[in-house]
Amino acid sequence: MSERYAVIGQPVAHSKSPWIHAQFARATRQDIDYGLIEAPADGFTGAADEFRTAGGKGLNVTLPFKEDAYQYCAQLSARARDARAVNTIRFGTETFGDNTDGVGLVRDLANLGADLRGSRVLLMGAGGAARGVVGALVEAGVAGLTIANRTESKARAVATRFRGVSASGYEALEPHFDFVINATSAGLAGASPGVPPDVLARAKLAYDMVYGRDTPFLAAARAAGVKTCDGLGMLVEQAAESFFVWRGVRPDTAAVLQELRGR
Ligand code: NAP
Repeated sequence: MSERYAVIGQPVAHSKSPWIHAQFARATRQDIDYGLIEAPADGFTGAADEFRTAGGKGLNVTLPFKEDAYQYCAQLSARARDARAVNTIRFGTETFGDNTDGVGLVRDLANLGADLRGSRVLLMGAGGAARGVVGALVEAGVAGLTIANRTESKARAVATRFRGVSASGYEALEPHFDFVINATSAGLAGASPGVPPDVLARAKLAYDMVYGRDTPFLAAARAAGVKTCDGLGMLVEQAAESFFVWRGVRPDTAAVLQELRGR
């Protein structure tokens, strides 16, 4: 019988994860069934318990439950502890929580030819997505990482947990970043996080974790002549790492991303 996995979130009906994992399973000949769980805002624990009791083997966790999942898991990977957020749960004798967002971003940037080693990176946002990638960016060998957030105190709270990472408000940013990464949800509301135009214009790449729509941030970067990319590749790469955590098999991502872009 197929082993069961699912993505849990609110809302989750739009999720591309079932399609992505079905492609991975077919390509790697893994017998899995991957579904969707739409849980009420206060219902993460009940829904996750129910899935596990019914024999579920693992979950992907998306908005707004990544912190609930962090509290829920008995065992945590180092990268989940760094992020204080979990996007991948594996059910076994212990409930194991991991965070694959950082690996997903760094692999997608590598696929795009972005050399992070020795670079200066501006990360905008201090929510679950931003926290999930700080450790991986530091490990990738950046020379400097600045976290900017609308609520500056939240950026400071994240930055203080990592060596060599600083925090800033948007107005105080200097134009010296190679890569500008938007980990805010501003684009979902048709807004831009407020990065000064000279900071954006100086970058080699402007990356928005939001996918499936053009955002004001990406439009401003294009207008400034800066190369841009949305977060679809990160979505596929973080999914591949989750698949590896569950199945011990690493699926190829390039064909899946190419097909997703063409849909
Ligand atoms: P979150 O925890 O709700 O955090 C939202 C962040 O966006 C906060 O830092 C918030 O600032 C900031 N923000 C919201 N509206 C803003 C605005 N108008 N101007 C400036 N800043 C604004 O959300 P999250 O989990 O971090 O997710 C953020 C985004 O990343 C989502 O759009 C999600 O879809 C995307 N994401 C993509 C992937 C992928 O695989 N591509 C993976 C994970 C997440 P304040 O702190 O000041 O409120």
